[in-house]
Amino acid sequence: MLSRVQGIVLKTYAQGEDDLILELMTKQAGLLRVLSPRAKKQTTSYSAVTQVLVVGDYILQQGITVNVMRQASMIDSYGDLRVDVMTLAYAQAMLELCLRVQHNARGTMDSMIIGYSLYDHLIASLARLRMQRSPSMALVHLQVLALVPLGIIPSYSICASCQQELQFDANHYSFIYGGFLCASCAAKGADKKAVVFHYKARSIMQKLSQIPVSLVGDVRVKADVEKEIRTFLTLYFREYAGISLRSLEVIEQLE
Ligand SMILES: [Zn+2]
Repeated sequence: MLSRVQGIVLKTYAQGEDDLILELMTKQAGLLRVLSPRAKKQTTSYSAVTQVLVVGDYILQQGITVNVMRQASMIDSYGDLRVDVMTLAYAQAMLELCLRVQHNARGTMDSMIIGYSLYDHLIASLARLRMQRSPSMALVHLQVLALVPLGIIPSYSICASCQQELQFDANHYSFIYGGFLCASCAAKGADKKAVVFHYKARSIMQKLSQIPVSLVGDVRVKADVEKEIRTFLTLYFREYAGISLRSLEVIEQLE
């Protein structure tokens, strides 16, 4: 059976001498493994539409373990994002994040739903990079939203120890309790190893968690607050989802 999907190439693997396997994130069917015959040959029409970061329109023959590409046309190659090393690094971090989140969800009932909600967020995030606005906060926003399909959203409003509502300046996160602590629990030393943040970090993440990427033009926060949010998210993804992004190391080296 043939199906038509719109998708973005997250990763490719060589298969034999000429063929490529794509990890294609699609709007209609979540993450698909797609065999692209002879895509490694520069002379074939598939070579351009099988590059990482390309968005295309693909006609696939559905198989049990892999889908085979039968036709493809380019929608966007994001050529403008490829000319700047830093912008490209952020784009690659977004692709890696989406791939890892979907690998975590693979095999679950919701994997397809996860794919298409994330797809729209990813495309909107790339559009934000294209506008050359704060690329690091664009990635932070996508990371915060990616916690939803992983099922590991922190409670931004309730103390993880005493269940009281958090005040605006709650700034302790406890990995032992698995959540933020109110000022009283933090002062009592509920978790002496709690991570202490700038008080604005939690409320910024809370706001980002409630807004789709497409509805936000730009997010700018003070450099020290942004750094704390980024550090927190790195720890959080590693601790609760086992996800560490290699692309983040590349970005750190470039900064
Ligand atoms: Zn408390």
